[in-house]
Amino acid sequence: MNISQESDNIIENYEKNTDSLINELNIVNSEIQYIIKRRNQLENVKKDIERDLYYTCNHEFILDNKDCYDDICKYICKKCKCYENEYMYKNYTYS
Ligand SMILES: [Zn+2]
Repeated sequence: MNISQESDNIIENYEKNTDSLINELNIVNSEIQYIIKRRNQLENVKKDIERDLYYTCNHEFILDNKDCYDDICKYICKKCKCYENEYMYKNYTYS
């Protein structure tokens, strides 16, 4: 193998490696996009469930122990964990 062939091989290997890394990156990016989309879907499902829970649970509100910077989250149901604030749930639209 002469110098020129060797350098051609190095370039070819480098390109192969670069191509496979680009492919790998594209696959990872696709996975991330899928997870973000799925997460958003699940957040919407969660909101729907919380809204239904707010109107179905026979709440037992207790003072929330967590640090709370305003009154919106002062009381929480010890069964369903909804806050004692209808406005947090009544404006949810079903997904
Ligand atoms: Zn409840």
